[in-house]
Order: sequence, then C-alpha cells, then structure tokens
Amino acid sequence: MVSKKHRISASYGPAKPTGANQLDSATAKALAKMTAAAKADGVVVVVKSGYRSWTTQKATYDRALRTQPQNISYYAPPGASEHQTGLAVDLWDGRVWYRPMENTATGKWLHKHAHEYGFILRFPKNKQKITGVAYEPWHFRYVGLEHSAKFDKANSLTLEEYLGLD
Ligand SMILES: [Zn+2]
Repeated sequence: MVSKKHRISASYGPAKPTGANQLDSATAKALAKMTAAAKADGVVVVVKSGYRSWTTQKATYDRALRTQPQNISYYAPPGASEHQTGLAVDLWDGRVWYRPMENTATGKWLHKHAHEYGFILRFPKNKQKITGVAYEPWHFRYVGLEHSAKFDKANSLTLEEYLGLD
C-alpha cells in the first residue's frame, strides 16, 4: 500500500526492474500478457508512464504545484506515488488522455478486463475521499490475480477498502 497516508522512502523501488518502463518483473509479465490479449481483440494498449523515481516524482509534483495548482489532486507528493514501486502503470491508446480516455476502446477494454490479469483500477470514480486521489481511468495497479479477481467488475472497490486500511 502506497498513498498520501502511507508513504515510502526515497530509496524504495522495484526489486527487479524490467524492460523499458522499469516495472517490477511480475508486473511487466502480467502487463505483456494483458497487452497481447487486448491486441487479439483489436485494442491498442500503450504505457504512458511506468516506474518513476522519488526524484522524478518530486520534480513533477513541484512543477504541478507551480503551473497547475487547480489539478494538484492528480499528483502525488514524492513518496506517495505507486509509480515508485514499479507496480503501477498509466495506460492509454497513444492518442486520447485524461478523463476522455475512459470512453476509448482501450479504456473500455481495460476497465472490463484488467482484473483478469492481476490489475485493478486504483482510483475509481467517486472514491476520492477514500483514496485521496481524483478519478484516474488510466492508472492501474498490479496486485496479482488472486487479489484482483476479488475486485468487483464495475471497478468501484478501492484497495483501501479491500485491505481495510484508511
Ligand atoms: Zn499513474
């Protein structure tokens, strides 16, 4: 669990960084499987953001604070981002970003199938009070199939609720 309330240190990172996106190896493997399944259905899945270091996250957060304070709820402070674990990915079709991403073929496919590959939609709609983050239709967290299979297909359950943490 990594969130604004449960932060990790600057030195924390993926145990075995794998591939161009430096993801945790199990996450990279599950993502490759999911991407191939989407492709077989004619749907393109592109990684927009994978692993991000504490330093990168700090730079991104500080820049957002200066340039777009109105959108700051989309940004995690350093140590509060799942991207630092290598277990989280931002996915899209390479063209349509932010909220409209949910209505693309890629968004619809991922929202329907991600939990079949060990991923959950980490920041569901109307759950900002629980997650501390506004709805992000693009951000998926790898939790492993034995857990993701227990999440509801409407993507309304949060990891906080699942684990019984606040
Ligand atoms: Zn993300």
